[in-house]
Amino acid sequence: MTDLFAGIEAGGTKWVCMVAAHPGDIRATTRFPTSQPGETIEKAIQFFKEEIHNSGLKALGIASFGPLNLNQDSPTFGYLTTTPKPGWADTNLLQPFQEAFNLPTGFDTDVNAAALGEARWGAAQGLSDFVYLTIGTGIGGAAVVNNTLVHGLIHPEMGHMLIPHDLDQDPFPGVCPYHSDCLEGLATGPAIAARWGEKGENLPPDHPAWQLEANYIALGLANLVTILSPQRIILGGGVMDQKQLFPLIRTRLQENLAGYVPAREILEEIDRYIVPPKLGSQAGVLGAIALAQEAAGSA
Ligand code: ADP
Ligand code: ZN
Repeated sequence: MTDLFAGIEAGGTKWVCMVAAHPGDIRATTRFPTSQPGETIEKAIQFFKEEIHNSGLKALGIASFGPLNLNQDSPTFGYLTTTPKPGWADTNLLQPFQEAFNLPTGFDTDVNAAALGEARWGAAQGLSDFVYLTIGTGIGGAAVVNNTLVHGLIHPEMGHMLIPHDLDQDPFPGVCPYHSDCLEGLATGPAIAARWGEKGENLPPDHPAWQLEANYIALGLANLVTILSPQRIILGGGVMDQKQLFPLIRTRLQENLAGYVPAREILEEIDRYIVPPKLGSQAGVLGAIALAQEAAGSA
């Protein structure tokens, strides 16, 4: 019998739930808007209970927006912590599912899970070291180092790295409530909308917004390349739907590094070095399926 896994992409705006063996064998999917925690969690539980009538599940994976407590020794392991999303701070995401299903359960950030999915089935197959950066409502990053997702003290917060901000060129102060003009403060979707008075999806491809955006992202990427030495960088999220950003970012990254990192991948094969995700809009929930597989030890 095929092993089936349950995956939950728990987002701030919507939840996606899936039962699948792998991306080529998806049995059921549902999506619904994120309302209050109790109601939203109950909807997910009901969906899986209906699916379990037909088949046993081997494990569950939860890929959530954050910040999360991922410290297994902590009494609040499995909680959403300080999210500004109304009603969701200090929500225990893990326990209701463990009580309902009593299954091995994988739990990680949405971006870590998406990176795991890309490693298994997408744009990072066969790589031991890569970075996945998502540029949307916020900027989140996942690093795989030596085949292992980095968790560290809490989890990486790459969006909040500090980068040079030329106030003559760009007087916009930035939107990060903690740091103002960190990378996220300058380059996230809401920063684009606030700076130009128009959402990114409504700006034309030749608008100066994209050159500036590419500059900021390429500064962030230069830091990531010099710190982590990734074999590839995957750029996802709504803002990266602006496909003209890719060539701009590649060129700016090469300029920032100025030939100092002597790798063919960067000097000659940059088109394969900076790439979009392969799993597309299903990256999040397939990442949750990958988390479930890890939890089941069937990786
Ligand atoms: P989230 O980060 O909330 O999960 P997204 O990755 O879709 O979701 O990011 C949403 C942000 O991306 C919004 O700020 C939105 O304005 C911006 N965005 C979405 N689509 C586009 C697009 N095609 N071009 C530019 N910006 C976009
Ligand atoms: Zn910040």
